Amino acid sequence: MDTMTEHELLAFDRAHIWHPYASATRPLPCYPVAKAEGVYLELLDGRRLIDGMSSWWSAIHGYNHPVINAAMTAQIGRMSHVMFGGLTHRPAVELAQLLLTLVPDGLEHIFFCDSGSVAVEVAMKMALQYWHARSYPAKHAFVTIRQGYHGDTWHAMSVSDPDTGMHAIFNKNLATQYFLPAPRSRFHEPFDEAEATVVAAFLEQHHEQLAAFILEPVVQGAGGMNFYHPDYLKRVRQLCTDYDILLIADEIATGFGRTGKLFACEHAGIGADIMCVGKALTGGYLTLAATLCTGDVATAISDGSPGLFMHGPTFMANPLACATALASTKLLLASNWQERVGKIERVLKDRLSPLHHLESVADVRVLGAIGVVELKAPVPMERIQRQLVDEGIWLRPFGKLFYTMPPFIISEAELDTLCAGMCAVLNRY
Ligand SMILES: *Cc1c(COP(=O)(O)O)cnc(C)c1O
Repeated sequence: MDTMTEHELLAFDRAHIWHPYASATRPLPCYPVAKAEGVYLELLDGRRLIDGMSSWWSAIHGYNHPVINAAMTAQIGRMSHVMFGGLTHRPAVELAQLLLTLVPDGLEHIFFCDSGSVAVEVAMKMALQYWHARSYPAKHAFVTIRQGYHGDTWHAMSVSDPDTGMHAIFNKNLATQYFLPAPRSRFHEPFDEAEATVVAAFLEQHHEQLAAFILEPVVQGAGGMNFYHPDYLKRVRQLCTDYDILLIADEIATGFGRTGKLFACEHAGIGADIMCVGKALTGGYLTLAATLCTGDVATAISDGSPGLFMHGPTFMANPLACATALASTKLLLASNWQERVGKIERVLKDRLSPLHHLESVADVRVLGAIGVVELKAPVPMERIQRQLVDEGIWLRPFGKLFYTMPPFIISEAELDTLCAGMCAVLNRY
């Protein structure tokens, strides 16, 4: 395999390998990466691209970080994996201990799982088992907000935006959930109380069937890159308490500093009954996620019938992934991440705001280390991707959304190059 030329490699990939959200017969071109270091992806042909995506929100420390590499190497020397049924280990315990001190108050139990989507499935199962154990089987439905994204497995998909998630294809096999309008009050603008009234009216009518309200706190990611007002989240939290509905906070994209707070719930000063983390948990090195819950949720499930939580993946709490997550999270806490994210926010605002004036641009918004340029029409992906690569930057626009969430370690000069590349492509567009 080492002797395959770049051309052969790409030809095999094109003929046989599925890529995310892609066609097998008419795939868009792929760019082969040879290695990655700091904020740079190095292509096989030697070109170096500044990564503006952090590999989908995850590589917050950039690539090939010596501290994380060393922690992983040490852990491989001890064990890469052992089953979690009947066994435990230091990486899982130390990671759990650290995470439980960092998350919003009230979360006391943690369930480790393989990916974000599975963490969401686990959260939804917890909510259903909670009401089953408390003898309220009628509380079985979920409510969420439009423009959300919670993953690609069945129940995660059922609460993701019906249009962007193409629910129509899956028809009767997909659980039917309730969708409220996406919050409209923007992060930096006044909150419109009418939005809370809509939620209250809905919960008043349906609370007897509702197991949980699931949403992404403050930043809706892949479903629309919407930054909404923290007061909306505050009202939802209060209403869930009032109507006895569990609140599931999906912090998979927002967790670990991306929005300027360690967790986005902190913008509203709220806690959740169940919370999911993933993506940046391992600094983008390995797949690992976790679902955390309150003592109340854990106790109800465990004291009720059957007295067990019915989930247990083969690679649960994988020691290598836990050791990596522990190293990444410690690294984040020991860094001046708030200052870095604040600086990225200022530069993104400064450099991207002028794009507002372009005919093709509908909106520019920035929050924490996330910059979004929303266009009036969907982008022609293949052409735009090539132009971005020609500018020396890696971005993956989708639909009308042109966006960046760079690694926190990006330097001001690299961020300048990234923004200049985005502007150059959009100015020509
Ligand atoms: C990415 C994402 C998921 C799914 O995580 P995977 O690891 O891709 O399964 C769920 N929720 C949110 C908010 C996400 O951004």
